[in-house]
Amino acid sequence: MSDDCIFCKIASGAIPAKFVYEDEFLVAFPDINPMAPVHVLVIPRKHLDSVAAAGPSDSALLGHALLTLPKIAAKLGIAESGFRVVMNTGKDGGQSVGHLHWHLLGGRFMEWPPG
Ligand code: AMP
Repeated sequence: MSDDCIFCKIASGAIPAKFVYEDEFLVAFPDINPMAPVHVLVIPRKHLDSVAAAGPSDSALLGHALLTLPKIAAKLGIAESGFRVVMNTGKDGGQSVGHLHWHLLGGRFMEWPPG
């Protein structure tokens, strides 16, 4: 837990959010500024600034997250139509919140390339 991290506060319940999924390692909640009909953020309960701050001891956590993302997509009804997972990292990656997170987007066709 990082004291000044908004996503740590959401994960701990200090800031209320509607969890669409939670388990021992992850929580998922709607993005406050949705970019698609379905747009949730999936975050580890553990504070990591970004994937660039992860180390070998985080292998199981990262693997668990990748395996869980499609399950959350299924729960939200976008597994069959398809979905996009985005992990913005650092300044040029467009990361604005310094707690590792995956955007799970769906409910419409996702254009490529991204802006
Ligand atoms: P990124 O720009 O990849 O770091 O993504 C951060 C995301 O967090 C943005 O899409 C914001 O809309 C979202 N966000 C910021 N604060 C909150 C919050 N309190 N609840 C839900 N989503 C948030």
